[in-house]
Amino acid sequence: MTKSLNTLMNVEDYKTLVDRYDVFLFDCDGVIWLGSKVIPGAKETIEYLKSQGKKLIFVTNNSSVSRAKYAEKFQKFNIKVEEQDIFSSAYATAVYLKDVISFDMSKYVYPIGGSGITDELRAMGVKVLEPHFPTIKNVDDVQGIVPDPSVGAVVVGLDVEINYSKLAFAHINITKSNALFIATNDDSTLPVQGLTFPGAGSLLSVLINSTSESPVVMGKPNQIMFDCISKANNLDLSRTLMIGDRLDTDIEFGTRAGVDTLLVFTGVTDRELAASSPISFTHSIQSLGDISKLAQ
Ligand code: PLP
Ligand code: CA
Repeated sequence: MTKSLNTLMNVEDYKTLVDRYDVFLFDCDGVIWLGSKVIPGAKETIEYLKSQGKKLIFVTNNSSVSRAKYAEKFQKFNIKVEEQDIFSSAYATAVYLKDVISFDMSKYVYPIGGSGITDELRAMGVKVLEPHFPTIKNVDDVQGIVPDPSVGAVVVGLDVEINYSKLAFAHINITKSNALFIATNDDSTLPVQGLTFPGAGSLLSVLINSTSESPVVMGKPNQIMFDCISKANNLDLSRTLMIGDRLDTDIEFGTRAGVDTLLVFTGVTDRELAASSPISFTHSIQSLGDISKLAQ
């Protein structure tokens, strides 16, 4: 069954939308930029919304770089964004450990992922374990990988240098050291210029399978990241809009949190997929850039 796409078509629709909300939560890749290219009009829309006194918050599942590095990406596109208005799944992980579950700070986190995870954890005062296990070259070497009782949590994100040694060390600490099993995000794929590659969720699935444990997942569509944003910004849900290009992460995130959603067609979802998906959204628009027509 196909459904209505509730598409915003003209400046009157855009004006009604802007008036309807005070807080705009933005997914980034697919909405504001695609890889290294800014989406036409996105910068102007952001500037227009700011000029109208709207609060803008940027929400990304990308745990590979820190919020400070992410702010530099905005700067490259000449878009002014404060680091404190960026929420990444790596930052949400650090907030979760310290503020939500009061993680034992005498323990270490073993990260599988990039500098985004280690930078955010260290900035929050969480100790990050430097790998000290042997690299496995053949199956017998696996005996050199032993549980480390100082590991309190394993945090998994996208790691472009993933290998068997890392997975074995994470596995043994989840199963034998009682380490918490946490994932920054579980996106099955990493979309890059019209192609898809394995995402953090696909690496995570190896450990879910081997340990028979379920991780606590921070990123969209899960509520933990939303709670982190809501607490920091005292959100009025009835005046908040979540904007994204992906149904199973961005739109589902907004829906689960109880806020309205706006789907854009500049990223991974086209109209055909949106019409046939069981996931509903409040509004859709071709591109975030269309709203910049209000500024003309
Ligand atoms: N994870 C990684 C490593 C990424 O590079 C990206 C997009 O660039 C994502 C996740 C998805 O990010 P977003 O939630 O901003 O679409
Ligand atoms: Ca996206």
